Amino acid sequence: MRNQRDDLLAVARELAELGLNKGTSGNCSVRLNRNGEPGFLVTPSGMGIDEMTADSMVQMAFDGSVVADKMTAQLKPSSEWRFHCDILKNRPEINAVIHTHSMFATTLACMHKDIPPFHYMIAVTGGDTIRCAPYALFGSQPLSDNALLALTDRKACLLANHGMIAIGADIDDALAVAVEVENLCEQYWRVLQLGEPIILSEVEMREVFQQFKGYGKWAV
Ligand code: 13P
Ligand code: ZN
Repeated sequence: MRNQRDDLLAVARELAELGLNKGTSGNCSVRLNRNGEPGFLVTPSGMGIDEMTADSMVQMAFDGSVVADKMTAQLKPSSEWRFHCDILKNRPEINAVIHTHSMFATTLACMHKDIPPFHYMIAVTGGDTIRCAPYALFGSQPLSDNALLALTDRKACLLANHGMIAIGADIDDALAVAVEVENLCEQYWRVLQLGEPIILSEVEMREVFQQFKGYGKWAV
């Protein structure tokens, strides 16, 4: 029977298969089902996808401690456990967090660029921009603080000189956001080769949000 460990492994695999993460870059987490102990599962630190199994996922409590069990005691949680923990703690509507070093999001993040509403699909990230969080050292509390702020009212942000974070109501939602953010970043990067794009107005974006209310599975 599939459980949350299997689901997290499946998403980590998919991120690798889609080319959004390579080597040991990136990580993901999922909130433990609310009827169990409070806390979350996060991918282990510094482990390639071929080595990972469902038992490699590390269980953590919201005080930042590792919940040891026979299978996970020896593995360290992702070095980015702080932002996984802080996002899940501060955003009760969010149950999964994905971090990638995907090519186009990272390219724009190295320019410290917020993504403006150059395309209506930016709305799936919850607002009319994708903010770029200021640079801070990987694995640090300042990085987590910057990310949490950049994610205010949003389901995605860039991390300067690093990559991106996508979050969702469940792990599939977070994955869909991550895929769309990378797509938008590639489109924006391509558009920038041609010059300055025409940006949608506030009124046009308000119409987009309205239109999305009746569309597909995106709840914006
Ligand atoms: P971990 O292997 O510790 O998850 O680190 C990868 C990463 O992306 C750090 O920002
Ligand atoms: Zn990273």
